[in-house]
Amino acid sequence: MRGKEGSAVVTLQTPLSSRLLGSYAQPLQQQRGLQTVEDLLWFLPRRYLDGQEELTEFTEGEYVVLEGTVRTVAKRPMSGRRRSMLNVLISTAVGDLEVTFFSVYGHQDRLIPGAKGLFEGRVGRYGSRWQLSHPSYEMLSDLDDDAPTPDAGHGLRDQGGTPGLGVVARALHPVYLEVRGVPSWTINRLVATVLGAMSDDGDPLPAELRRRRDLPGYVAAMRHLHLPEHRDDVAKGKKRLKYDEALLMQLALGMRRRAQQQAPAVPRAPRQGGLLEAFDKRLPFTLTAGQRAVGEEIAADLARSHPMNRLLQGEVGSGKTVVALRAMLAVIDAGGQAALLAPTEVLAAQHYRTITTLLGDLAQGGMLGGDLDRGTRVALLTGSQSAAARKQALLAAASGEAGIVVGTHALIQKHVQLADLGLVVVDEQHRFGVEQRDALREKAKKPPHVLVMTATPIPRTVAMTVFGDMDTSVLAELPAGRQPIGSFVVGNRLWYERTWGRVADEVRAGRQVYVVCPRIGEEWEERSAVPTGAEALNSERAWLTMTDAMYYGDDDPERDEGVPLRGVHEVARELRELPALRDVRVGILHGRLTPDEKDRAMAAFTAGEIDVLVSTTVVEVGVDVPNATLMVVTNSDRFGISQLHQLRGRVGRGEHPGLCLFVLSGVPDIDHPGTPGLRPGDPNDQRRSPAVERMTAIAATNDGFELSQLDLQYRREGDILGARQSGGTSLRMLSLRGGDDAQIIEAAREDAAALLDQDPTLAGQPHLSYLVNMVVDEQQAAFLERG
Ligand code: ADP
Ligand code: MG
Repeated sequence: MRGKEGSAVVTLQTPLSSRLLGSYAQPLQQQRGLQTVEDLLWFLPRRYLDGQEELTEFTEGEYVVLEGTVRTVAKRPMSGRRRSMLNVLISTAVGDLEVTFFSVYGHQDRLIPGAKGLFEGRVGRYGSRWQLSHPSYEMLSDLDDDAPTPDAGHGLRDQGGTPGLGVVARALHPVYLEVRGVPSWTINRLVATVLGAMSDDGDPLPAELRRRRDLPGYVAAMRHLHLPEHRDDVAKGKKRLKYDEALLMQLALGMRRRAQQQAPAVPRAPRQGGLLEAFDKRLPFTLTAGQRAVGEEIAADLARSHPMNRLLQGEVGSGKTVVALRAMLAVIDAGGQAALLAPTEVLAAQHYRTITTLLGDLAQGGMLGGDLDRGTRVALLTGSQSAAARKQALLAAASGEAGIVVGTHALIQKHVQLADLGLVVVDEQHRFGVEQRDALREKAKKPPHVLVMTATPIPRTVAMTVFGDMDTSVLAELPAGRQPIGSFVVGNRLWYERTWGRVADEVRAGRQVYVVCPRIGEEWEERSAVPTGAEALNSERAWLTMTDAMYYGDDDPERDEGVPLRGVHEVARELRELPALRDVRVGILHGRLTPDEKDRAMAAFTAGEIDVLVSTTVVEVGVDVPNATLMVVTNSDRFGISQLHQLRGRVGRGEHPGLCLFVLSGVPDIDHPGTPGLRPGDPNDQRRSPAVERMTAIAATNDGFELSQLDLQYRREGDILGARQSGGTSLRMLSLRGGDDAQIIEAAREDAAALLDQDPTLAGQPHLSYLVNMVVDEQQAAFLERG
């Protein structure tokens, strides 16, 4: 992108100087940090005026750029002065505005009734009238004569230092973020001037690709965005910038993936007559077709001499644990060790229990009565276990005596030495980004095979970006005989009372109930210190805070209304005092219990000694008690969609159908309009809050993929599924929300693969290669920063 021959040379790196922009360089630099031509071009219009205003009302103090028509002009003497002031009434698509000038000179002959112009300023209020204070304006009718067309290529020399100020007479007027002292149309002119001095020679995107994907050149794209003639132009320009972003990202991921595929790994080919075979024989159920197919994919990966890097997506309850365990056994059969990492201690402990139970005496290797021949050992490592237990587990891991080491992410990443780590399984963790995977690889002499499992179906866009360097497998099918889960939103007192009646019914029928609260309450408050670092990762309270905060922006009006969050202790007490639940055994579970207490609570619930378990989101992931059929989630609107889907997946795991009741915040004291069952005909029924919308939507479907898509709609862009952790790449143009962008990412993914097939190091594409390296550097810098 060099400058046109014969005119001043302008490139993306050219600094914005007064030589280039006149006196406007300084405010642009100071207020918006625009340093180079590239920065200026990327100062993209926020919107475009085309006579159809998208604003619907004025707000006092708001910065606006509007198209308006002059209605009346009145000259008034100013008291005590010789000068007159000018009162102008303009009408806009939003409403009428009064514009006042404290001088008539220079204005009177331009502001003529019937004339159209662009007006910019802050909206004020004077009595019942809206005013525009100190507006800048530019009349459209003045402009036709000297309006340059965008393609005229205004060389800088024509501008006499300060570019002209005319608004281009186009149907669309770009509106920029406010820069004091530089009206929107002036910014547009500056960009037009700069663009006029640039050309698309040396576009980093190969011409063949541009043609095939029907993409404009970079400079042309910027022209489309800054100087559009039609809305279509804007779309074309955006498409190119999005494609660029997607291509660079996919090239970086592709190169990374190729590098990994060339890294050496110890092949762990299946062995006849080993643990895996013995395990398969004693499995109490038959594997689903999906479990078998994924098992074969994994076995094939493990047998290769390059590390597996696979993402296993499986619906809640699809039986991922067995798939993982079979992979771990294959690795042990081949002489290696496997680590299983869970996001919380409760889940780690449960995995430990599940695995030792499933393995039976196969997990008693080296113990009296164990399967001496083929057996192995399973070690559990958690942050809060006793020093002695921990030491023993660490020893078993380091000596290789333990074939399987189960623990939380934080712990395993830090202290553990393994004799021969062959496989790392990361469970239920979609916030496990590229850099964590890197950190793990450093645990072994040769990179271990890695299997990441998630029960939250990952939308295509996210799978292609955040997990774009991995192979993926999907377990779509649930084991036979699973019961459907019904969901219902509880938004008022009536239904709230019925909820507890339903709990009593369920218990009377011999089944069990989860009640989930967003906080522990009371006892927790006394030690209000919020855990940090590794401890935070281990504490489900922090876990909740993190996920919760990640989900919602400030668009949730209920968020700050001070509606109290229900706590475990408080709710447990309420239940114990309810006459309907008199004989019901209520237990509690939360992250502040000691590991022993947690274990005991979970074990008692599993054994059916507790009917109702009131807990925090420790039961969010993976907890498996088939006799539990009902779940009540208090303050359900405070949870994320994926989280609720996860929670809901805890019920209906056995032979009986599951039911999940989402209680909204404030209930029973507040009745939420728009919830089913509420005073039919209530006029408020129409005004559903975002929380009710969200809850109703999630209650309406059990399809994980649909929900993950829905989830994206409700999230802030930057927070999408750890997009933040995708390696620090900030997406400027692409939205992971899907739609057209998903197609762009898909196309870029194909093109990146084709480019790398031809030219793995991009040696023949120096410009592209340079840009890809910038992306990679940015990722690394972001990683280092986070340490
Ligand atoms: P998730 O994929 O959510 O982690 P789990 O691995 O916890 O699911 O499995 C859920 C339950 O289903 C467990 O009780 C497990 O033993 C059981 N299960 C797994 N595979 C099968 C199967 N093929 N047939 C029947 N039950 C199965
Ligand atoms: Mg699981």
